[in-house]
Amino acid sequence: MNLQERDKKHLWHPLTQHKLHPNHLAITKAKGCVLTDDKGNEYIDGIASWYTCMYGHCNEYITDKVKTQLDQLDQVVFSGFTHKPAIELSEALMNILPKNQEKIFFSDNGSTSVDVAIKMALQYHFNKDDKRGKIIALEGGFHGDTFGAMSVSGLSVYNGPFEEFFIDVARIPVSNTKNFEAVKQQFKQLLETENVAAFIFEPLVQGASAMFMYDVKLLDELIAIAHSFGVVTIADEVMTGFGKTGKNFASDYLENKPDVMCLSKSLTGGIAPMALTTCTQNIYDAFYDDELGKGFFHGHTYSANPLTCTAALASMKLLQTDEMQQNIERVTQSHQQFNEQIKQHSKVESTRQLGIIFALDLNIKMERYGNLRDKIFNHFMDDGIFLRPLGNTIYILAPFVITDLELEKIYNSIENLLDTL
Ligand SMILES: *Cc1c(COP(=O)(O)O)cnc(C)c1O
Repeated sequence: MNLQERDKKHLWHPLTQHKLHPNHLAITKAKGCVLTDDKGNEYIDGIASWYTCMYGHCNEYITDKVKTQLDQLDQVVFSGFTHKPAIELSEALMNILPKNQEKIFFSDNGSTSVDVAIKMALQYHFNKDDKRGKIIALEGGFHGDTFGAMSVSGLSVYNGPFEEFFIDVARIPVSNTKNFEAVKQQFKQLLETENVAAFIFEPLVQGASAMFMYDVKLLDELIAIAHSFGVVTIADEVMTGFGKTGKNFASDYLENKPDVMCLSKSLTGGIAPMALTTCTQNIYDAFYDDELGKGFFHGHTYSANPLTCTAALASMKLLQTDEMQQNIERVTQSHQQFNEQIKQHSKVESTRQLGIIFALDLNIKMERYGNLRDKIFNHFMDDGIFLRPLGNTIYILAPFVITDLELEKIYNSIENLLDTL
């Protein structure tokens, strides 16, 4: 039996209806931007394996550091103990995070970083004898699949069985300019009439909403209003963090900085799962008390694993090299040129771009995971390109180190697809 057949016996894949999609391609190795399957076919990883491997797969600078750490300290409990990889990572992060961020809390994935942020916000008010229970979130937002994260996600395509167990959330629309004043009014009214604990958002780009991009000015004003009501603002930068928008963080585009930030995906350069919830001194101080119970009693077994911290530290260093910043600039400009060339195409409804994130909407109605979507997916795979269209949106979010030739291959394949649709 080949790997694909053996896979079917015991494995249950994420986000998959196995009856409709029984086959999973076996990938045996990855290097730079290229995935190789068990038959030796190569695919350009056009979405950096869900926005993780931004410095290229199996990046030797990162893997060498991890290999060295592997012989030094593998794992230790992070309650009562500490270690150099975690300390150095915290110091490196302080150099690039927005200036108001002071404290770093570890967990294992994007969803848990959001759950931690929500619990922090709820307990922040609770500790100050100002119990508040409502969270405001944006329509179309995605924050993960654990219960807290799922509750605040507006993209509830498949959340039916769980909805009655959600935490208390109110949703406001996102908009570019048209209903700016209406959204602001709705937001203010919620803050005046409800006990709002937190406001959570994906700053500037809603990744799972097919890379929907919205105006920074609106968000800036909403954050300022939230702060005037003592509401904790949470920027979910799990997708946007670490250079993808052209700045280190999407929050760097904002004048009003969030109180809490969620980070994961490319944090370790794709080597291993890890997430961070960072916060201001003010948030932290609400937990700092003689009373034990005011502390934050949340913890995961693998918190701040020394190997993942080492991978993250190496990733931070790579991100800040001139070479990587030039790569980001190069890919950004390349996308801009492609955008100019493709946006007038008769099959294109609209395009958008921020940093190395590029998306185009086809002017064809499609289901998010329907048949035509599968046909488009297969078109790219046949061309040796891994892209994951979302409904009628095709987007590119490739590693920073993608070569000009690889980018050209992706652009050509998109153009050929448009001509055959
Ligand atoms: C992917 C994502 C998450 C969830 O992260 P997981 O590691 O998949 O749990 C949360 N928020 C945003 C914005 C994401 O893109």
